[in-house]
Amino acid sequence: MRFYLLPAFCVVVSLFTIAQTDPNASLPPGYSIENIDKTIDPCVDFYQYACGNWMKKAVIPPDRSQWVSFAEVQERNQATMRTILEKASVNDPHHDGIDQKIGDFYSSCMDDKAADAGGIDPLKPELTRVDAVKDKAALIDAIARVHLIGPNPLFNFYSAPDLHNADQVIAYIDQGGLSLPDRNYYIKDDPKMVEMRQHLVEYVTQVFTLAGHSPQQSADAAQTVMRIETALAKASMDRTLRRDPKNRDHKMTREEAAALGPNFYLSRYFKDVGAPSFTSLNVVNPDFFKQVNAVLDTESLDALKTYVSWHLLRAASPWLSKPFVDANFKMQQALTGQAQIQDRWKRCVDLTDNSLGEALGQRYVEETFGPEGKQRMLKMVDALEKSLDQDIRGLPWMSDDTKKQAKIKLDAIRNKIGYPDAWRDYSKLKVERGDLIGNLTRANEFESSRQIAKIDKPLDRKEWGMTPPTVNAYYSGSYNEIVFPAGILQPPFFDKTVDDAVNMGGIGVVIGHELTHGFDDQGRKFDPQGNLRDWWTEQDGKEFEKRVSCVADEYSSFIAVDDLHLNGRLTLGENTADNGGARIALNALRAMIAQDPNSKAAQTIDGYTPEQRFFLGFGRVWCQKQRPELSRMLANVDPHSPGRFRVDGVVQNMPEFQKTWSCKTGQPMVSANACRVW
Ligand SMILES: [Zn+2]
Repeated sequence: MRFYLLPAFCVVVSLFTIAQTDPNASLPPGYSIENIDKTIDPCVDFYQYACGNWMKKAVIPPDRSQWVSFAEVQERNQATMRTILEKASVNDPHHDGIDQKIGDFYSSCMDDKAADAGGIDPLKPELTRVDAVKDKAALIDAIARVHLIGPNPLFNFYSAPDLHNADQVIAYIDQGGLSLPDRNYYIKDDPKMVEMRQHLVEYVTQVFTLAGHSPQQSADAAQTVMRIETALAKASMDRTLRRDPKNRDHKMTREEAAALGPNFYLSRYFKDVGAPSFTSLNVVNPDFFKQVNAVLDTESLDALKTYVSWHLLRAASPWLSKPFVDANFKMQQALTGQAQIQDRWKRCVDLTDNSLGEALGQRYVEETFGPEGKQRMLKMVDALEKSLDQDIRGLPWMSDDTKKQAKIKLDAIRNKIGYPDAWRDYSKLKVERGDLIGNLTRANEFESSRQIAKIDKPLDRKEWGMTPPTVNAYYSGSYNEIVFPAGILQPPFFDKTVDDAVNMGGIGVVIGHELTHGFDDQGRKFDPQGNLRDWWTEQDGKEFEKRVSCVADEYSSFIAVDDLHLNGRLTLGENTADNGGARIALNALRAMIAQDPNSKAAQTIDGYTPEQRFFLGFGRVWCQKQRPELSRMLANVDPHSPGRFRVDGVVQNMPEFQKTWSCKTGQPMVSANACRVW
């Protein structure tokens, strides 16, 4: 439900810090008419029109797999965080709690010399623990330990709101344990997937060799990992099916779960991870759980130990010595096309944000986010909520009964802007200067234990699911809330120096997108309290499904890369949110102008009307260049469409767009079969 998927790149380490000049320095940082390619007819390809000149000049930096507004802002945020962290990492015994944690964490991460000198040593205590396991019952203890410190071999264990009682947090056991990004990578026969499997075999072989195993042992280890992961992949539910919460709703007692998988030694596992006592849990995918039980039965103890060790090695590789780092990067390169490893400081900034996000986040918001930013955002959110309310009232296909329920849900949506009211307390987490793997292990354990401690407790609705510097936003169905971290409230999303017509096309559409998620094919299944409950009349439900099918078909016709089509069902919620978000943001702008016809937003500027600037601002957010490898990966895993279709796919459904740009029937940006849900 987030606005944008930040691909889960494993961050990696290099020995050298190469000063890079910014290849995109000549591009305007926010909205600008310089980005427009006026040789293109906006009614033929609006994306090309809005981004054409940008794309002529934009270069994908060698250390990235794409260039897009999110990456631009992320680069800026990384630089801000670097300054904060360098200041905090000066060795000073008088540092306060926060600066000690983030400063020492960052400085231990930046110490590449120590990492190189250590080789595999920092990971040895954990590997030895797995090696020492004598039987399968004891193996579950080792798995529990590995789960606590980060990697997730075999399955995932976590806490989350009960789907039927969101006020209560319960335990979840879910599918997991794969090294490649999706089950498709293990089971599809197309040449690109076969190639990625080969890369994984080479990667595993290389890492085991580096860890001190013979070439034969390492090659065998790779076969073991592939065999076990393929078995797990086969039993994994595909991403499209997982989008339906009904398919993830399998609450049962502990005894029932234990009976499904006797080889799990579940009680022992729960005790090992320090779970509080509880009586029932959600086994998200029971078939997967049975498959893991079978794997535990059929695979030898040695094979299982190899597989668990692999997940330890894989997670640590980016932070061990250079040969491990290089092996890890080679795999990432195959998946994403990234040409060069990121500078170490960038990887260490990201690692600190991942591990101590609400400590670093405090310093980050002190530097970047003022109260006026929050005030302007609150005003925009309010305008968007009013606009969605109007939109729902006017829907010709929805009955008054469902409209009434929708209004109750809309009114119940809470918003979070900038940063949390209450910061996470890291005082019990030990961070030691000069102990990178130890710090990472302890930080992961701290976070896992925090998550597990929530089981069987009331939901803390103040919590945030993203750190403040994150360039993204989200809607949560269980919380029924929209969340906008400080990191995204910058140009080209939100620019204090430009008029609100442009900002409405940027952050306004983001807000509208998140609000619409509350009413997309997933969100509509949750009630105002965040419970999975059908509040629709049967007829309205059918009308809704008819309308989203139109959107699914539309996006399935788009091609992501080569001959690979988008998966219209996987991307359905995001596309619905994009379409709804753009419409309600435009209506909010119209209302704003009606209220204040003398405002800057109401003027024609640079020859563009307010509504034209709205669409140009919208296009600017999605100006994007992507490496083909990444495009392929995202088409398989990302519920969002590529930038081009997030723009053209939306505007061709909008009569408002066609009027704004005087498009004529038959032109490509005038869909003969325009879809509209919200
Ligand atoms: Zn979204």
